[in-house]
Amino acid sequence: MHNFLPTAYLQGQFIPFKDANISIATHALHYGTGAFGGLRGIPDPNNPRQILLFRLDRHCQRLSNSARLLQFDLPADKIEHVIVDFIKKNQPTVSFYIRPFVYTSDLGIAPRLHNIEKDFFVYGLELGDYLSPDGVACRISSWYRQEDRSLPLRGKISGAYITSSLAKTEAVESGFDEAILMNSQGKVCEASGMNLFLIRNGQLITPGYEQDILEGITRDSVTTIAKAMGLTVIERPVDKSELFIADEVFLSGTAAKITPVKQIENYHLPQEKPITSQLRDKLTAITENRDPDYADWVYTVSLD
Ligand code: PMP
Repeated sequence: MHNFLPTAYLQGQFIPFKDANISIATHALHYGTGAFGGLRGIPDPNNPRQILLFRLDRHCQRLSNSARLLQFDLPADKIEHVIVDFIKKNQPTVSFYIRPFVYTSDLGIAPRLHNIEKDFFVYGLELGDYLSPDGVACRISSWYRQEDRSLPLRGKISGAYITSSLAKTEAVESGFDEAILMNSQGKVCEASGMNLFLIRNGQLITPGYEQDILEGITRDSVTTIAKAMGLTVIERPVDKSELFIADEVFLSGTAAKITPVKQIENYHLPQEKPITSQLRDKLTAITENRDPDYADWVYTVSLD
């Protein structure tokens, strides 16, 4: 079903993806003691021998931080080198997604992070649109986002994604496309793998970092772009009922990019989404390296 890139990185070596396999006794498989990243690579529209990576430094830093939370010292520049080599070895010709992963690679039982072998692998797959760019219908999940006091939510810890999985399946099996999760305080948090924004009275509003959200790199990009465009950006707790009366709502993430929300539960949002469209066009131009103001957000890998 997926088209995986032919070469993967596992245990310090580049090997064929089909041989990049690990044991059923791998510790992280049982305890969720892994953390991952996710970034997109696209061929440069002006030169297909160049691959463009959006905010590579931020992605590597976030994964390095996640690794630290798992007691694994993996510097961001090491991750960056491996990702660049990974792309050169794979010679991709279409848009793809890179999944770097750190995890407890020891074989054996007992949940812990100390005295245990760890590893770092990378693989990739071709990836087009993750959600419909025309917009999605969202269900308010009956599952709540975890709290930072039980789980380090600043990292993309693999075990945390049980909640995203439950929420996404609940939403899809009840006729929606995506889930919106509340946090333990009952405030709007984020979707199963995307941050959330709403627009009310021309102002861009998004839950703040203290709301147990993931520190999304697309979210950071959107707030930066919006401020530069002269929009007022407000980071604050958001109530569920605000979503139903918002002028526009959209989701942001590496896979989802900027995805408009057209319906939440039984409430239909206005079809016109001028600010969402403006932000989406700007973000697309930046990721395709067409915007000189943000050229330092784009890392170019030459395939030659
Ligand atoms: N929230 C969650 C739970 C996610 O998994 C993701 C995807 N990484 C995001 C938000 C969006 O983050 P980013 O923009 O860095 O992809």
